[in-house]
Amino acid sequence: MANEGCSSSGWEAESEELYGAESGWVEARTSCDHLSSLCSDLSNIPVPDSPCTRCHHPAENWLCLSCKDVLCSRFINKHMLSHHQETGHCLALSFSDLSVWCFACEAYLDVQMIWQLRPVYEVAHLLKFGQRPPFLAIESLQLSTQNEGSSSGS
Ligand SMILES: [Zn+2]
Ligand SMILES: [Zn+2]
Ligand SMILES: [Zn+2]
Repeated sequence: MANEGCSSSGWEAESEELYGAESGWVEARTSCDHLSSLCSDLSNIPVPDSPCTRCHHPAENWLCLSCKDVLCSRFINKHMLSHHQETGHCLALSFSDLSVWCFACEAYLDVQMIWQLRPVYEVAHLLKFGQRPPFLAIESLQLSTQNEGSSSGS
């Protein structure tokens, strides 16, 4: 019954904020015109601590979502940026916080709102944290939206 005494700390809520909802959250786009360049097989990606394929920088690299190359950030040797300039691949997933950046839109993309990005986000989350991301309740939705685009009115 001593529980009621400790009202000074509010730490029960803290675990829910680990996913970055509150602190320094940048506004992310909920649409992007470049999703067609996504690799068709993103269920199999390099592990989050893969080194940069060019300079072997060990961590916090980016994964190109078009060709699954692992490249370092603009704060290291800018290899992801130069990869984008050389190839036009514009979608990259950050292994440090699992955010997705579009170089063409010059914006972060909302992985929870853009269903095409959810599968790779889930896989990356699973590899990085050992568990699936919290929004997985909508998993079944993906199955029913997959043939979107091939359907034509008759
Ligand atoms: Zn874009
Ligand atoms: Zn590099
Ligand atoms: Zn690429």
